[in-house]
Amino acid sequence: MKTQKTAPPNSLDAYWMPFTANRAFKAVPRMVVGAKGMHYLTADGRRVLDATSGLYCVNAGHANPHIVSAIQKAAATLDYAPAFQFGHPQAFELAHRLQAIAPGDLDHVFYASSGSEAIDTALKVALSYHRRRGEGHRTRFIGRERGYHGVGFGGISVGGMSPNRKVYGNMLSGVDHLPTTYVRDKQAFSAGEPEWGAHLADELERIIGLHDPSNIAGVIVEPVAGSTGCLPPPKGYLERLRSITDAHGILLIFDEVITAFGRLGHAFASDRYGIAPDMIAFAKGLTNGAVPMSGVLVRAGIYEVHMDGPEHLPELYHGFTYSGHPLATAAALAALDVYADEGLFERAKQNEALFAQTMLSLRDLPGVLDIRPIGMMCGIDLAPANRTVGARGFAIMDRAFHELDLYIRVGADTLIVAPPLIAIADDIEQIRNKLAVAIAQTA
Ligand code: PLP
Repeated sequence: MKTQKTAPPNSLDAYWMPFTANRAFKAVPRMVVGAKGMHYLTADGRRVLDATSGLYCVNAGHANPHIVSAIQKAAATLDYAPAFQFGHPQAFELAHRLQAIAPGDLDHVFYASSGSEAIDTALKVALSYHRRRGEGHRTRFIGRERGYHGVGFGGISVGGMSPNRKVYGNMLSGVDHLPTTYVRDKQAFSAGEPEWGAHLADELERIIGLHDPSNIAGVIVEPVAGSTGCLPPPKGYLERLRSITDAHGILLIFDEVITAFGRLGHAFASDRYGIAPDMIAFAKGLTNGAVPMSGVLVRAGIYEVHMDGPEHLPELYHGFTYSGHPLATAAALAALDVYADEGLFERAKQNEALFAQTMLSLRDLPGVLDIRPIGMMCGIDLAPANRTVGARGFAIMDRAFHELDLYIRVGADTLIVAPPLIAIADDIEQIRNKLAVAIAQTA
C-alpha cells in the first residue's frame, strides 16, 4: 500500500541520513547553508569554524575560487562524458598529474567516485592481477582491526570497525585481520609516530604462515587509521609490512583516502614513510571535496599484465558510470593547482609541531585519556560520560556547533581534529580553546 505523502517540502522526514543519529538530528538539526575558507555558514548568519575539513576533505579551505570556477566552466562545457569506451582530455591530463606526484613506480590510475568504490576497485584489481599472472589461487586479503575502508562489502570485510560489520552477515570470505597498532598504555600522548609497536607487523608473518603465501592476494591498511580515531603507525611498522609483503609476492595496498593530498605534509603518506606500496586508494582531498571523486594508483606492471587478449574487448570488467566525470576531473586539476601554488603540503609540514603542541595542551582537562596528533590530524579520546559510550562525544559535537560555533567530527567519545591545511596559528588556537570549553562543560 502506498503511504500518503503529506510532509511539507521543507520537512526533514524523508531523508535517511548516513552515519547519523537521525532522530536526534531531526529534533535539533545542525544545518549549514554555505561555506567559505575556514568556516561553515548557518542560516542565522553564524560562522562556524571547521575543525575537521568537512570529512577530512576540504584541504584547501571551502569555496576556493580557482576550484569553483573550474567546476562552473566544466559544467557549461562538457556536463558528462561516457566513461566506457569514450574519454575526455582532462581525465588523461589528471592521470598524468597524479602519476607525476605518486611515489615510486605507481604509474596508472583507475577512477571512481567514492573512497568505498576505490577500495573495492583495489581489491578487485589485486585479484585480477594475480589471476592474469597465473596465480588465481591468491584470493585472500588481510586487513587490520580498527581499519576503516568504506562501506562496500569489500571494504567492510577488510575493515575492522565492528559496528560497521556486525549486521551485514558473511561479507567477503577469506579475510584475516592484523591486530590494531594502538595500545594506549604504551603510546598515550605521543606526538607523531609512537616508538612502541613496530613488532605488531610481525603478526603478518603468522597469518601468512597459517594460509601459505601462495593463497594471499593483498594486505590493506591505512597508513594512519583515520575514522577509528587517528591512530598513527608505530615507527618502523609500515616498513616491516612492506618488506614482509615483498618477500611473499603479496600486494600491499595503502588506503590513503584521508592521508593523501597533504594531511601528513606530503602528497601521499607513502612519501612520509619512504615506502612505495603496490596500490594507493585516494579520494577526499583530490577534489578538495567539491565534487565526488576517487581512484586507485597502481604500480607499473599491474596495468601491463592486463594488456593482452583481444584488442576489441575491455581488459578489466570493472568501472563506474561516473569514473573520470568531467566536473570531478576539473575540480581535481584545479585542487592540485591550488595545493602546489599555495604550498599547502609544505604548510601542513611546517604547522605540524605547532598543531601537535596546541592539541597536546588539552591533556590536563577532565577525562582526557589520550591525544594523538600527526601531520594535521589528531584524535582525542575522552572518558565516556556516565559510562554511556558516545554520549559525551555527541554532546560535544552538538554543543560545539550550537553554542561555540565550532564544527567537529566525533566517533563515539573520540574527537577528530583535522582542520583545512590553510589554517593559520590563530585558527588552530581557536579550535583548541573552543574544544577546551566543550570538554570541560561535558566532564
Ligand atoms: N577509506 C578511508 C580511510 C576513509 O576514511 C573513508 C571515508 O572516510 C573511506 C575509505 C570511504 O570513503 P567514502 O565515504 O568516500 O566511500
